[in-house]
Amino acid sequence: MAEDLYFEQMPVGEMANFAYLIGSRSTREALLVDPAWSVDALLDRAETDGMRVTGALITHAHQDHIGGSIFGMSIEGLDRLMTRQPVPIHVHAHEAESVRRVTGLSATDLVSHESGDVLALGELRVRLLHTPGHTPGSQCFLVETAGEPGRLVAGDTLFLNGCGRVDLPGGDPEALFRSLHGVLKQLPDETVLYPGHLYAAEPFEALGRQKWTNPYLRAGSIEQFLSLLGY
Ligand SMILES: [Zn+2]
Repeated sequence: MAEDLYFEQMPVGEMANFAYLIGSRSTREALLVDPAWSVDALLDRAETDGMRVTGALITHAHQDHIGGSIFGMSIEGLDRLMTRQPVPIHVHAHEAESVRRVTGLSATDLVSHESGDVLALGELRVRLLHTPGHTPGSQCFLVETAGEPGRLVAGDTLFLNGCGRVDLPGGDPEALFRSLHGVLKQLPDETVLYPGHLYAAEPFEALGRQKWTNPYLRAGSIEQFLSLLGY
């Protein structure tokens, strides 16, 4: 039932990131997506809302999503989460090693997933979709609850009117094309896109609208897609 869904989109940090809380109001359990920048504030938010964080969902291993050192900055992230409230960290199998390298976590802290795995929280289902391209183990989370459109938490794979960059280590433009056109574009139009960064005027939008307005989803061929990316 739609009333069971607890869903919070929270701006964090200095790079326009979004973290998310996805939970069940009936069981009061929540999953924290991409805990970084101000982990205490994210956990406090859950607590204030009467929710218990029982796990973290990781879209990919970049420092602005999981913490770590980059551009001379030290960003708080999974290390702080594991100090204050140790929970299982759900990653895609192809991203596990990068998550460990960036955060110093051990293999036993992580739960490695394959595409299609589903986590259940009360009446909700969170489906993990492998969407490589921005990084090899990037994944999106499709939140499904009866009586309401799905919500797609897309990390850096798909933004409003944009998509993830592919020029960083592990980036793969052809894989990103397949993820966008073979996986995400196949989802129903009413699905709501929730990106990993605020790079547009609006913080979320129906995927059906993005299929019309987002040039990377509109691209009719891989050649056209690659030329948009500058290849
Ligand atoms: Zn990224």
